[in-house]
Amino acid sequence: MKQADVVILGGISGIAAGVSCRQHYPEKKVTLVRKEGTVLIPCGIPYIYGTVGGPQNNVIPDGLLEKNGIELIKEEAVSVDREKRLVTLQDNETLSYDKLVFATGSIPLVPPIPGVNKKNVYAVKKEFDYLADLLEDMKTVKDLVIIGGGFIGVEFADECRKNRDINVTVVEALSHCLQTAMDDEFCIEAESKLTEVGVKILTNAKVEAILGDDIVTGVRLSGGTDLKADMVILGIGAIPNTVLAKKTGLKLGVKNAIKVNHYMQSHTDPNIFACGDCAEKQSFFTGRTIGVMLASIATSEARIAGANLFSPVHRNPGVISTFSTMINGRAFAVSGLTERAAIQAGINYVIGTAEATDTHPGGMPNSSLVKVKLIFAKYTGELLGGSISGGKTVGEMVNLLSAGIMHRMTANEIYQFQMGTHPALTPSPIAYPIVNAAGKAILPMRD
Ligand SMILES: Cc1cc2nc3c(=O)[nH]c(=O)nc-3n(C[C@H](O)[C@H](O)[C@H](O)COP(=O)(O)OP(=O)(O)OC[C@H]3O[C@@H](n4cnc5c(N)ncnc54)[C@H](O)[C@@H]3O)c2cc1C
Repeated sequence: MKQADVVILGGISGIAAGVSCRQHYPEKKVTLVRKEGTVLIPCGIPYIYGTVGGPQNNVIPDGLLEKNGIELIKEEAVSVDREKRLVTLQDNETLSYDKLVFATGSIPLVPPIPGVNKKNVYAVKKEFDYLADLLEDMKTVKDLVIIGGGFIGVEFADECRKNRDINVTVVEALSHCLQTAMDDEFCIEAESKLTEVGVKILTNAKVEAILGDDIVTGVRLSGGTDLKADMVILGIGAIPNTVLAKKTGLKLGVKNAIKVNHYMQSHTDPNIFACGDCAEKQSFFTGRTIGVMLASIATSEARIAGANLFSPVHRNPGVISTFSTMINGRAFAVSGLTERAAIQAGINYVIGTAEATDTHPGGMPNSSLVKVKLIFAKYTGELLGGSISGGKTVGEMVNLLSAGIMHRMTANEIYQFQMGTHPALTPSPIAYPIVNAAGKAILPMRD
């Protein structure tokens, strides 16, 4: 039997929880148990099929664990004895723990569509060999159908077109791609960037069958139309991977996610914590359970869990939901509520919008037009959300919004914001779009 103070089961959020634990409690022995030989950068998976060229170029180095004094065991954990505080691994080795962290993540949702098990139908699993096979099989593909126009589907569509003569069609059940993440005007802009590179988008369309004998030859849409396809990629979401948690007797909630308190402690056992995609989440805004799964949320929860293991005082404020993506060279990002989400939550809101180039003068090389839409609570003036499209600068601008939301900044405070500016790096200080969008929201708030 091996011994550790802390045993963590998982990948990316497992690493973050381990590092956080060692930073807060350097005297503790931490062991990470991971069933994958290699951890992929999950958000980089679509780029395997274009920009980065292969799964070997998209991995998180294990050196990070070594550097932080964390032991790594590459095995699957198959059972947990809560009374004895023992984890059993697939090779029958046992590990004792004081504190156990579930960071077992999520697996792709595979819909019960007839034909879904045919060859060349791929879900997006975060597994090295599986994704290497997908890359190999794609070499002979002529017609790729992607089911689901969420950010995984559109990123795959964009990347698979790179350096490949291939027909790509995205089939999306809603009226726009990315509709669950962004407001319509941003969805429309994103769709036009995708069609610019030759991707065909079918919205309000549902795949009801995958056709072919052993290998896929096409898909049938609910109206009866058939599309040719020699490969299908499923990008319709993920579900928490909590089979072991269930076997361990942990209480599960919505979609079988592990129920945790604000300190990331499981409801069932104060010595067992959970973080990342396998843990249940509450909205920062409404306190209601929500099913968003993002690496940014997973690693934040992991840092909180790691810090709380031997002194649970760090409170998880809930999910703000900040995400960004890049489609055909244009970035799209959202933090907090979209206008659609504010309406659904019954919130009385005010909007401010602004546009500016992200260099000044706008004629500088590689300059992009940035479009910002901010949403404020009408009676308190608090920032509730922001959506941005533009160039690469959007990636960090949205993080600024996330900080503003988390600290409940008001439109007035953002309007007084002292940002650093530089002609080659940022919008002009006169036209800084986040500040100007906040400024435009101040007057309507008085109505
Ligand atoms: C294609 C794609 C693109 C994405 N892009 C983005 C993005 O741009 N931005 C963003 O914020 N999010 C993105 N996400 C979401 C993000 O990947 C997830 O939110 C994140 O991976 C969650 O991390 P996690 O550690 O909770 O779980 P996972 O990454 O799922 O890791 C769980 C790990 O636990 C291991 N494990 C499971 N059970 C056991 C066991 N019993 N014993 C040992 N090990 C076990 C698994 O093998 C796995 O390695 C993307 C996801 C995908 C699929």
